[in-house]
Amino acid sequence: MITKIHNIKNITTYDPILDKIVVENTDSIIIENGRIIKIGLEDEDWIINHELDAQQTIITPGFIDSHTHLIFASNRSDDFSNRISGKSYIEIAESGGGIKSSIKSLRNISKDQLLDKCLKDINNIVKTGTTTIEAKSGYGLTLEDEIKSLEVIRDLNEESTIDVVSTFMGAHDFPLEINNKNDYVNLICNEMIPEVAAMNLAEFCDIFCEKGYFDHEQTRKICNSAKEHNLKIKLHIDEFEDFNGAYLAGELKAVSADHLMKSNSKGLTHMAKNGVVATILPGTTLFLGLDTYANGRKMIEAGCDIALASDYNPGSCTIYSIPIVMALSCLYCGLSIEEAFKGVTYNAAKAINRQDSIGVVKENYFADLLFWDINSIAEIPYWFNSDKLSMVMKKGKLI
Ligand SMILES: [Zn+2]
Repeated sequence: MITKIHNIKNITTYDPILDKIVVENTDSIIIENGRIIKIGLEDEDWIINHELDAQQTIITPGFIDSHTHLIFASNRSDDFSNRISGKSYIEIAESGGGIKSSIKSLRNISKDQLLDKCLKDINNIVKTGTTTIEAKSGYGLTLEDEIKSLEVIRDLNEESTIDVVSTFMGAHDFPLEINNKNDYVNLICNEMIPEVAAMNLAEFCDIFCEKGYFDHEQTRKICNSAKEHNLKIKLHIDEFEDFNGAYLAGELKAVSADHLMKSNSKGLTHMAKNGVVATILPGTTLFLGLDTYANGRKMIEAGCDIALASDYNPGSCTIYSIPIVMALSCLYCGLSIEEAFKGVTYNAAKAINRQDSIGVVKENYFADLLFWDINSIAEIPYWFNSDKLSMVMKKGKLI
């Protein structure tokens, strides 16, 4: 099956060889079996099965959202109401709201109901241009409920129109029923990770390394177990305070370390030295009504590759739109349009270890493409409602 896209205004993509955003004025793209096989050759005799008129749109790579907590069951608008009436995160948690309520509802929902809820979410997410999404477990916190969450991610890959990259995050919080935190760490290391790996249900293991949650020693222990079972590492670090998480992320050679609102320069440099992608989540800062955003400029100066992601979750960020996240990063995190664009395409692919197959428009890469009725990529965060996005293609098929 060969598809030809013609009547393209231009292709705008990050080019990993030239290390910059390039605008290619070309008329056509040839796609076979979901991959781009030729860009801009008019003189070859292809047997074309299907033609698509791009109608003079700009083509970019599909967006990659490398950090979401998509696998949740219930709405937490009550927490939102409490928060805007002045209650703190801790007060809400202590009164039974917060993540504990997400854990309760996830444990009570059936796998089929959870799958339906996530499919509905993905249908909305796709409309904003996301063609690959990472999703974490982490609202189950028992072996059975973490497996249920990861099985939903597996099934989403069959039943939804996009790819869903699976992350096990049993270390999202400590369950109420466990009194000794180290007992739960042992449960993660000795039962959950081996079972998740044996069932081939996750590619990454993520840990909430923050004061009051998983400390450095517990984080190291979980990481070691994950690595022994061939899971790659992601970390939540330095969100509430500087817990020296960035330095630890470098030491553990995580694929990405995320949040980084309070990270120190030494830690960021250590991350850069060890190839850890710095993922910033400005939607969370906005949604929490905070005024100090992650300092993207400082991370770039430290040598880090920056990815941007949504952190889509029911408590601290219901924003899933990548154009909105791009706008926030340009307005508040010190990123240029080009850096933000790279952060949701190539660097986001790097944050999920997919930089050789998605995130750029190039021969041999998957044809995950967005068609924009705009004049340049500056209009993506400018018109951040995604209404200039006219078509979304996943592996050569319009969705
Ligand atoms: Zn998160």
